[in-house]
Amino acid sequence: MSQTTDTKITLLREKIQAYNHDYYTLDAPTVTDAEYDRQIKLLRELEQQFPEHARPDSPTQTVGGAVLDAFSKVQHELPMLSLGNVYSAAELDDFIERINKRLDNTAELRFCVEPKLDGLAISLIYEQGKLVLAATRGDGTTGEDVTHNVKTIHNIPHQLQGDNIPARLEVRGEVVMPIADFERFNQQALANDTKGFVNPRNAAAGSLRQLDSNMTAQRPLAFYSYGIGIIEQGDLAESHFQRLQQLKVWGLPLTDEIRLESGAEGCIAAYTQLLAERATLPYEIDGIVYKVDDIALQEQLGFISRAPRWATAHKFPAQEEQTCLLDVEFQVGRTGAITPVAILEPVFVGGVTVSRASLHNADEIQRLGLEIGNTVIIRRAADVIPQIVKALPNATIKSQTIVFPEHCPVCDSEIERIEGEAIARCTGGLYCAAQRKQAIKYFASRKAMNIDGMGVKVVEQLVDEGLINTPADLFQLTAEQLIPLERMAAKKAENLINAIQNCKQSTLAKFILALGIREVGDATAKNLAEHFLTLEALQNADTESLESIDDVGEIVAKHIGSFFRQKHNQEVIAALLSAGIEWPELMAKEQQVLPLADKTFVLTGTLTKMPRNEAKQALQALGAKVSGSVSKKTDYVVAGAAAGSKLLKAQELGITVLTEDQMLEMLDH
Ligand code: NAD
Repeated sequence: MSQTTDTKITLLREKIQAYNHDYYTLDAPTVTDAEYDRQIKLLRELEQQFPEHARPDSPTQTVGGAVLDAFSKVQHELPMLSLGNVYSAAELDDFIERINKRLDNTAELRFCVEPKLDGLAISLIYEQGKLVLAATRGDGTTGEDVTHNVKTIHNIPHQLQGDNIPARLEVRGEVVMPIADFERFNQQALANDTKGFVNPRNAAAGSLRQLDSNMTAQRPLAFYSYGIGIIEQGDLAESHFQRLQQLKVWGLPLTDEIRLESGAEGCIAAYTQLLAERATLPYEIDGIVYKVDDIALQEQLGFISRAPRWATAHKFPAQEEQTCLLDVEFQVGRTGAITPVAILEPVFVGGVTVSRASLHNADEIQRLGLEIGNTVIIRRAADVIPQIVKALPNATIKSQTIVFPEHCPVCDSEIERIEGEAIARCTGGLYCAAQRKQAIKYFASRKAMNIDGMGVKVVEQLVDEGLINTPADLFQLTAEQLIPLERMAAKKAENLINAIQNCKQSTLAKFILALGIREVGDATAKNLAEHFLTLEALQNADTESLESIDDVGEIVAKHIGSFFRQKHNQEVIAALLSAGIEWPELMAKEQQVLPLADKTFVLTGTLTKMPRNEAKQALQALGAKVSGSVSKKTDYVVAGAAAGSKLLKAQELGITVLTEDQMLEMLDH
């Protein structure tokens, strides 16, 4: 072997050993499992090619990693091994053929097939049915004593129930964090600004290997059995499957997907089915395990250095991969929200090729500590959209800070980010091409300019045909331009043009609302109109005067200020006004002469269309005085049904008597 191959193998081993340490001992993996598996495969191939270089302490021959000194050590009486792997039906055939050869068997083999849970292996020792010791797998021979922590896992019985329980029994299985709990935990971590976990396996390992069992108790962990180690003074079935069922009878949890299959065909059918069910299972699995069911055959087959000969794992496609973050693009949504999107070196993960992933907002970039050029871990589990879950430290490529833009990449208006809000937004609402449809739809909507017939579909058609770009363009449309559009007859086109023209007679409040300024709804628009009286005054208002208005706090004031500052928005507003939109001039409240000022009303009899109290308030709002008795000073008596003495007096004094309908008409005008 050449010196270079020798060095290559040594370096590769050292690299994998470092990965093992990060993963098994520290619970902080620095590469994805897929990448780890590629490296280990490479090492295995090199060791096969150069057998003189094979060593018993190579990671290809050993199990797990070193245990943490902080835990008491436990010597496993029977080693806790790993599993071999097959990656295809052909490799499964080879696996079965090797077994048959060794057993000198020609009959079809029966396999117990089980989901391969992605958590961490645990050994539980029960004495007289009582849980006395729980240990991690560690390096296969020496594990960590995690009894206190394991006792906090709700579905692990402290005492087995039932008959024929061996005097001493070792149950083996996997501790996992169920997917729903993992997601809840991470969301909580995000809300509390603490670190979440990359995946459920990491969450299970990190939660179980805690020095303080109170911490473990707070983590939603679950356990599922998949095997038996030591049995003392007990008689168990000769089938692995039946042994597992026996564990269930004694109170130990099993996954629901365990079943018996015959031969390679049965195994592959089980693989296909489980893969299809993967996204619906409550726990994360990374493959299926095929185990020779007959215990006598298992014993005959025995072990190789790190795995039993009678079992193998058939791995599913990876749900996590690593790739390079090439760039970050900023997308503008229809409401102006700016979303950073990661541009990735294309990578095959979770069954699809991923080349882009949303980064949601600036906080997410910061939380991940992302820089362009980073190697990142992409996770695409259970058909959900791909996500960047971690940035890996990059030794080789020079990374580059991600700069959040200050101006909209589509229309160049300012981007506004209000403190405390995660989302940054473009403020060029009236003009920005990304927000075009939304802005025009809102402008034309019933509570804004109320353009009859200008529904969502029509707006989309007009924008898609390039007939309009901003709300101002609506006023330049002609019936001839509309008629060729789909589902647009001549009559409809004419009605639409009329509706557009009719909307020009509006009110300042409606016009302000129609601009679609963030967080300015109809009540705020009305308050703004009543306070500033003219659009010009509102456009020039400073923050202080904006904040003095009902409904307008610091944030809304900022939205209004940034909106009117944008040159493009100003241009669209000017075009709208020159198209002829107008409204009655408003007067300050103190200068307003109310139409019924100085008029005195008396209400009598039963009003049937408007309760008396409401009528009183409506008259008062228009400046009238409402009195309880008729005198010479009374201007109007409103007489409802069964009016009596007050009506008579009014007639005597020659005061104008109104019916309820006449009063309502007066209020309307
Ligand atoms: P493994 O996870 O591939 O298989 C063995 C383990 O499967 C068992 O120890 C047990 O814990 C588990 N298992 C789940 N369900 C089972 C079932 N029904 N029956 C039996 N066992 C079941 O092997 P391993 O040695 O624990 O780990 C190797 C793998 O771990 C690698 O292939 C890689 O995916 C991952 N790893 C990743 C890194 C990294 O840095 N990302 C480092 C080391 C290992």
